[in-house]
Amino acid sequence: MSINRRKFDALVIGAGGGGLRAGLHLAREGVHTAVVSKVFPTRSHTVAAQGGINAALANMVPDNWHWHMFDTVKGSDYLGDQDAIEYMCKVAPKIVYELEHFGVPFSRTEKGKIYQRPFGGQSQNFGGDQAARTCAAADRTGHAMLHSLYQQNIAANTHFFDEYFAIDLLRDDDGHVTGALVIEIETGEPLVIEAKATLLATGGCGQMYKTNTNAHVNTGDGMAMALRAGIPLQDMEFFQFHPTGIAGRGLLLTEGCRGEGGYLVNKDGERFMERYAPNAKDLASRDVVSRAIYTEVKEGRGCGPDGDHVHLKLSHLGADVIMKRLPGIRDTCMTFLHKDPITDLIPIYPTAHYVMGGIPTNRAGEVVSVGKRKGTEAVVPGLYAAGECACVSVHGANRLGGNSLLDIVVFGRAAAENMIEYVRANPAHRDLPEKSLEQVEGRLARWEQTGEGPSVLDLRNELKTAMETYCGVYRDQETLATGIEKVAEIVERIKDVRLKDQSKVYNTSRIEALELENLADIAMATVTSAHARQESRGAHSRVDFPERDDANWMQHTLYLREGRKLAYKPVRTQPLTVESFPPKKRTY
Ligand SMILES: Cc1cc2nc3c(=O)[nH]c(=O)nc-3n(C[C@H](O)[C@H](O)[C@H](O)COP(=O)(O)OP(=O)(O)OC[C@H]3O[C@@H](n4cnc5c(N)ncnc54)[C@H](O)[C@@H]3O)c2cc1C
Repeated sequence: MSINRRKFDALVIGAGGGGLRAGLHLAREGVHTAVVSKVFPTRSHTVAAQGGINAALANMVPDNWHWHMFDTVKGSDYLGDQDAIEYMCKVAPKIVYELEHFGVPFSRTEKGKIYQRPFGGQSQNFGGDQAARTCAAADRTGHAMLHSLYQQNIAANTHFFDEYFAIDLLRDDDGHVTGALVIEIETGEPLVIEAKATLLATGGCGQMYKTNTNAHVNTGDGMAMALRAGIPLQDMEFFQFHPTGIAGRGLLLTEGCRGEGGYLVNKDGERFMERYAPNAKDLASRDVVSRAIYTEVKEGRGCGPDGDHVHLKLSHLGADVIMKRLPGIRDTCMTFLHKDPITDLIPIYPTAHYVMGGIPTNRAGEVVSVGKRKGTEAVVPGLYAAGECACVSVHGANRLGGNSLLDIVVFGRAAAENMIEYVRANPAHRDLPEKSLEQVEGRLARWEQTGEGPSVLDLRNELKTAMETYCGVYRDQETLATGIEKVAEIVERIKDVRLKDQSKVYNTSRIEALELENLADIAMATVTSAHARQESRGAHSRVDFPERDDANWMQHTLYLREGRKLAYKPVRTQPLTVESFPPKKRTY
């Protein structure tokens, strides 16, 4: 097959907040940069982020980055790497002011400062009173950020490949990543993009669960590309279930609803979070609130005819607050539920939301794989990762609300900074070996013919149901073992999946088949890692191992696709300049 080639200094795969922040820094520094996105950039999933971005600006109540760091380490259930967390929390105010200068229209206090709302797991003075650290543009913060970053990229002459789908990474014989094979979705034409440095910023993989808050395109493509390139995925067993999805539909109602003063009630009208988290109540960390909702429903205190959800109460906030601070939430409730939060209770239930694990990186955004000798690590030359697809790891076993938008811009920028250095130190493009290209082409060629088995959609739905059933909020050895069998069986059946369409042009069914392969790889990484971790920590709740086990499990999981092998590496408990926060029992 003869394939067109384009050469750039830097290739960024993904145009969400992480990819666009990186692309902007690269382009502004004069690095010839291509950004590839399978959807138009401003349709990337970041656009859906509602509540806000964390930074200790102290605009509402006293705050500082060290308290933010403490909350993040505690929120991570002590699995987060404290050097990366210190770096992120310290640089957060500068990053938010940068966004303000790029044009993000943050909401304002009466004095004209950036408005900040309280979010779950935030405290003043290392576990004291509730903090208010989440900088918000009403309940459309991600929308505001993504559009501002896109406009700045256009001004900086970033080259966009809109609606191009990345198939796989290209590597030379020394293991350097030299770019990627992509296809133009409209024409089906493949294209090789060669680059001296490549960044994966492809976002999350929430589509592996049946009920989720994620966009249809969040299929873990970059993570699966890394797996196929022989790179492990880290901590995939930690998947966050957000407490307030609209019951049965998954659509998210931001934690900002509770930040503004909303609260949860059961069928008796009881404010039940007071029993589970006497201090933080409804603003306890997400894993804690989600488990509390499950328990209420399981013990017969759920609402509705089937007792299968609880209620979010906002009406006491009054029409003014709801219209000013939560206008998008009101729209969502009225459109999808025909309920108005100004007067009505809103039915909610936990829903799959965010992947804490991902492609392992260091603080510089460099991808860190397993080394040749057992127990060692090695940087993959020319490859970087940032955003939800990466695991740096600042979220550990549980992410705090407002810390993802921060993570994506902090580490998108940091990765770009290091890519600039790398490109300057390595001015020539490396040769692209035909062998690497042939392998990747093989994957694409496979989908030029259809199989005779189930449709892509049916098999994707089976996978999502299997993950929800066997790898949900509560887990045990037997259920997870069944989950591994089910996912393995689905992986086999993908080979014979039936495509709707045989033509090359705008063949979305071929794209969906490629996505299904990616999702299945990620699902296998998730359920295998969850099966092995015999403790409960953060979002990983094992009913057969209900306690956290620091003696044996203060370590990161690494999952390798080849042979479905697992390895482990220690948590980096040493921060950069301050003292380490030692593990303690986590109460809110
Ligand atoms: C409903 C909702 C609300 C949220 N609210 C908040 C919040 O208030 N605060 C907060 O901190 N976090 C929030 N989050 C989490 C946060 O929004 C995400 O973690 C974050 O936006 C992810 O950004 P990203 O740049 O990593 O990826 P994304 O924004 O998902 O972008 C991924 C990009 O990769 C591209 N891509 C993927 N695969 C391919 C491929 N194969 N080829 C080419 N391109 C590809 C896509 O086209 C897209 O451009 C929320 C999440 C959800 C679901």
